[in-house]
Amino acid sequence: MKIGCPKEIKPQEFRVGMTPNAVHEAVQHGHEVLIETGAGAGAGFDDMAYVAAGAKIISTAAEIFAAADMIVKVKEPQPAERKMLREGQVLFTYLHLAPDPEQTRDLLASGATCIAYETVTDRNGGLPLLAPMSEVAGKLAPQVGAWTLQKANGGRGVLLGGVPGVAPARVAVIGGGVVGTHAARVAAGMGAEVTVLDRSLVRMRYLDDIFSRDFKTMYASAGNIAEVIAEADMVIGAVLIPGAAAPKLISRAQLATMKPGAALVDVAIDQGGCFETSKPTTHKDPIYEVDGIMHYCVANMPGAVARTSTIALGNATMPFMLALADKGWKQACADDPHLLEGLNVHAGKLTYYAVGKALGIDV
Ligand code: NAD
Repeated sequence: MKIGCPKEIKPQEFRVGMTPNAVHEAVQHGHEVLIETGAGAGAGFDDMAYVAAGAKIISTAAEIFAAADMIVKVKEPQPAERKMLREGQVLFTYLHLAPDPEQTRDLLASGATCIAYETVTDRNGGLPLLAPMSEVAGKLAPQVGAWTLQKANGGRGVLLGGVPGVAPARVAVIGGGVVGTHAARVAAGMGAEVTVLDRSLVRMRYLDDIFSRDFKTMYASAGNIAEVIAEADMVIGAVLIPGAAAPKLISRAQLATMKPGAALVDVAIDQGGCFETSKPTTHKDPIYEVDGIMHYCVANMPGAVARTSTIALGNATMPFMLALADKGWKQACADDPHLLEGLNVHAGKLTYYAVGKALGIDV
């Protein structure tokens, strides 16, 4: 099969769909891989690394879309890319179609077979191609929160780990899933006093079993949240209700109960945010202040560490990419019900129920 990997064209996107390691494996399996020149530059992979792995470097995305049987990307195809997709071609990338009727319409019109990273499942009910980005965002959250807390950035001027004779900062993490656990581990590692609040007792039992020396857990009742945020220097929002907008867990009125200059890091901003005063920000202008409380609400946090994110995503997508290339999408999806869950669009038909429901299109 010919596998094509164009350079990402969405603004501020530095990741790339295939690493040189992924190329090497695909070539070992007998496939031809076409990489657009400069595709890996933002993630620190130059053309020579791809050539060494066995890829052919191609000068334009148009040539790649014209030649490839399967396109492997990171972000949803942009309008110019959607025009180049064609019937019978496989697209393997993040799509997030539910809030995006325009993209859905174009993908249906293209006749291509579109498999979305975000709806591929695993046997534990998890989302294996979303998890690596949650791990990255979770580990970044205390790091960006610590920066936000610095005086020059409008924060409280508190050092997360304290020093001998000065108490460490207090960090509250609301939501103890993939993001929350990684955030709590890093915050604890930086020396902060950390509390994780969740609504799942099963999850809190697990966290308590494994991490009770690093942080404590609390049920995420409104009362407990109110108590914890009043004492916190940093609050990290990491909740998810699958398929729904994030619940608002801190109201604007509650900001007045917090310490002036405290930092709110709303990782759940890509689902609408879990604080009433959250609004999406960018890496260029990541923080703003409301009622004396600093907010960090970057919607694509993993983009800040494009190299780590690209490698982490590549590790997770590689087995699926190889199965699609080796067997063709039909057989690969027939053999693996979890990959089949990724199928969102095929030959002009929507094939994913939740997207159809959200957009009012028959599935
Ligand atoms: P997850 O499903 O692993 O964890 C979510 C946790 O939230 C679960 O443990 C769940 O029990 C808990 N929860 C649900 N409702 C709650 C409530 N009312 N109070 C307290 N806890 C509650 O999800 P995840 O992978 O950790 O993702 C968390 C959020 O981070 C999602 O919104 C995801 O989209 C987002 N995210 C953002 C970025 C970014 O760049 N901003 C990157 C990755 C993930």
